[in-house]
Amino acid sequence: MSTDTQAPAAVEEVHILWTSEGMSCDGDTISVTAASLPSLEDVVLGAIPGLPKVVLHNKVLAYETGDDFTRAFHQAANGELGAPYVLVVEGSIPNERINGDGYWTSMGNDPRTGEPITFNTWIDRLAPGAFAVVAIGTCATYGGIHAMAGNPTGCMGLADYLGRDFRSAGGMPIINVPGCPVQPDNFMETVTWLLYQAAGSAPPLPLDEQLRPTWLFGKTVHEGCDRAAYYEQGDFAKDYNSPKCQVKIGCWGPVVNCNVTKRGWMDGLGGCPNVGGICIGCTMPGFPDKFMPFMDEPPGASISSGLVASTYGPMVRRLRAITNRSVNTEPRWRHNRTELTSGFAPRWPGK
Ligand code: SF4
Ligand code: SF4
Ligand code: SF4
Repeated sequence: MSTDTQAPAAVEEVHILWTSEGMSCDGDTISVTAASLPSLEDVVLGAIPGLPKVVLHNKVLAYETGDDFTRAFHQAANGELGAPYVLVVEGSIPNERINGDGYWTSMGNDPRTGEPITFNTWIDRLAPGAFAVVAIGTCATYGGIHAMAGNPTGCMGLADYLGRDFRSAGGMPIINVPGCPVQPDNFMETVTWLLYQAAGSAPPLPLDEQLRPTWLFGKTVHEGCDRAAYYEQGDFAKDYNSPKCQVKIGCWGPVVNCNVTKRGWMDGLGGCPNVGGICIGCTMPGFPDKFMPFMDEPPGASISSGLVASTYGPMVRRLRAITNRSVNTEPRWRHNRTELTSGFAPRWPGK
């Protein structure tokens, strides 16, 4: 998808207004503290060449509290911030039209009325003026856990709330970086791209049909999995202690767009199936309803893995075992002579 962004005039300072006041567990903020490519600290402290100065506002990471913390949000909503901002939305967006006599979730109070300002009101006020709007985590991108069937809040993802034709002040649609929680470097790489864009030194960020950065979500978990060779050979785990392919004990990796098997979780380490966790599809728009009950074999997998297990898999395993034994011995011509070839002559007694 082309984002058709107008190149902005280069800016020297960008604020990141990050609100996790949606229906959220703050898990995405916590996850991002583990980023290293680049780290949040490096971006905020100006260690990355070519980036504008970055001022971060995130309640979990801020020293300010109360009115001191919300001041920048009010300034941005009133057009008084004095610098462009990236709005980061964490948590799913409840439907305040079905909130009964109360409200679902809020951040701070309206100074004029003293009434709570709902999360939805903040989005209405801040999204249109933002250089870019980023939904972080599967709750904010597609609704996630809070939007499960039967939930009373009417929760939804940001693109459902603002509309898919929404465009930020920087000319961009919503940028979705899903995951429950988000893979930390996926988010930091996306934000860094946007900051370079704000600095006038990066092209528009490419997005797929689900508004995800294409280079991060273009491949499946299975395509990067350390256990994929077991799948190919029809060798499947029967319990969670096995190093073999986990498709028969609930892994959805073959049909899930996520790069953690390639990228790892922290500093290249981890990545669900690589380290023994089944993929439950947490990055996907259909999560969690379409992947439940977790730990059951995915319906389609019984056919595809059954075919591999009954035909091709055992055959290639056998043939490879034969070839493996063969290449595990030195060529015969090296051992068809009686004389020593190395010059080694034992000199100790008895030899
Ligand atoms: Fe928490 Fe997951 Fe929702 Fe993020 S996507 S707020 S980690 S439940
Ligand atoms: Fe694919 Fe999952 Fe098996 Fe890995 S564990 S090879 S992702 S099915
Ligand atoms: Fe989520 Fe599956 Fe990716 Fe793990 S491998 S982060 S469960 S989508």
